[in-house]
Amino acid sequence: MVLNRLPYRDWTSWVATIVIVLAACIVREIFLYPFGRSLPYVTFYPAVTFAAIYGGLYAGIAAMLLSVTITFSWIIGFSQLANLSTNEWLVQAAFPILSTIISYAIESMYRVRAHDQEQTKQLLEINEELTSQKQNYQSLVENLPFMITRFDEELRYLYANPAFEKMSYLNTSEIIGKTWKEIGYQASMYEPLLSHFKTALATKKTVECEIAYTTSDETKYYQHVIIPESEKDGVAHTILVVTHDLTLQKQMQKELLRLDRLNIIGEMAASIGHELRNPLTTVRGYLQFFTKKDNFADYNEQINTMIEELDRANSIITEFLSLAKNKAVNIECCNLNDNIHAIIPLLQADAAHSKHNINLELGDIPNSNMDKKEIRQVLLNLVRNAIEATPSGGTITVKTALVNQHVVLSVQDTGPGIPKDIICKLGTPFVTTKDFGTGLGLSVCYRIADRHNAKLEVETGSNGTTFLMKFN
Ligand code: ADP
Ligand code: MG
Repeated sequence: MVLNRLPYRDWTSWVATIVIVLAACIVREIFLYPFGRSLPYVTFYPAVTFAAIYGGLYAGIAAMLLSVTITFSWIIGFSQLANLSTNEWLVQAAFPILSTIISYAIESMYRVRAHDQEQTKQLLEINEELTSQKQNYQSLVENLPFMITRFDEELRYLYANPAFEKMSYLNTSEIIGKTWKEIGYQASMYEPLLSHFKTALATKKTVECEIAYTTSDETKYYQHVIIPESEKDGVAHTILVVTHDLTLQKQMQKELLRLDRLNIIGEMAASIGHELRNPLTTVRGYLQFFTKKDNFADYNEQINTMIEELDRANSIITEFLSLAKNKAVNIECCNLNDNIHAIIPLLQADAAHSKHNINLELGDIPNSNMDKKEIRQVLLNLVRNAIEATPSGGTITVKTALVNQHVVLSVQDTGPGIPKDIICKLGTPFVTTKDFGTGLGLSVCYRIADRHNAKLEVETGSNGTTFLMKFN
């Protein structure tokens, strides 16, 4: 398999040529001496062949020229050339011609072989590149957070990527070759999508749609991009569907709306709060003045009620003002547990008044940055709501803990839970289910959480409600 390489083109081929020809010369001298002038080139043909194998066409020709020179000068002798017969001249002439043909043939074989090898190498490289590209695309499709599925004309699954398994909780092997109906989906689940599929197939155009899927415990929003895949005949035989879960995005949009509402209220609060307080103070001052006048002695009770109501209005305004966006925050590094200890007597007095117990479960937590007064206000608002929701004699648990390196404050009650219809409105000012509620307590809490870069979350059910404030 010496032909697996290209002939040598360096100085070694010339050295090899000389060595091979001399070796042929020696072999001839030793073994063919008795033949004298006859068979002059018998060992030189193999020599030319070997030289050509080693060094290619030029080495073969060089070996041929060297052989002819040796033959003329030494084996035959220049003086004898004139005595050569026609046959002998034919032998002389045949050698260079045949040698050149042999050398050329060997060189050509090398070239053909090298060309083949080059092509094979190129094909292997292309193949390798295609394989690596295929792997890249496959890894892309399989790691995308989108569901990618392909259907045939009868809407049987042909392919589903791993994201499909994660989102649908179905195994790919269970669905391939099946329609939605065969898989067991309810018609109400796939019918909205079916019409879009039909449109895509009929128009051969990509269709985009957003569909909400409601199950007993949640609503999920999906965006589908339905791409009919046309083949050479121009007819769409398969459909590619890229599905994006929009549920989180929708939730964030809702959250943004809520924050925006808070923002507007915050801005309004600062400007109208003071305007309202001034007339209230004047009215309250006059009312107090009247209580001291004998003419109004009969109405003292009513006037005091009016003053109480004015005070309530004032306290609403105070709470409302704390919604103000640009309220100065006095952030300092302190321990949440110490802050709770400072306010707990007040909470306990409030709870005892309505025959509730407050259970403290303070965990081992590191210091964090907070505005002490604001966090106390959150605690006050949450505990107040918990007391108001829990029947007399119930227990409210105030907890702190370190969860995933975050300090968490929670207020848990055993009340009936938050009414379903207001859960999504929590934090919106003036949303209340209480006759004398202001609907501002939670708004204030959300605003404070926001200012502390903390998250206020709620878990609620018929066994009670827990508000969790997760610090960052
Ligand atoms: P308010 O207490 O003045 O009504 P909030 O903003 O504090 O205003 O609360 C808004 C509403 O959220 C309440 O009216 C109540 O319906 C509901 N809520 C808040 N906390 C709880 C709780 N712990 N349990 C049940 N419902 C609650
Ligand atoms: Mg409240």
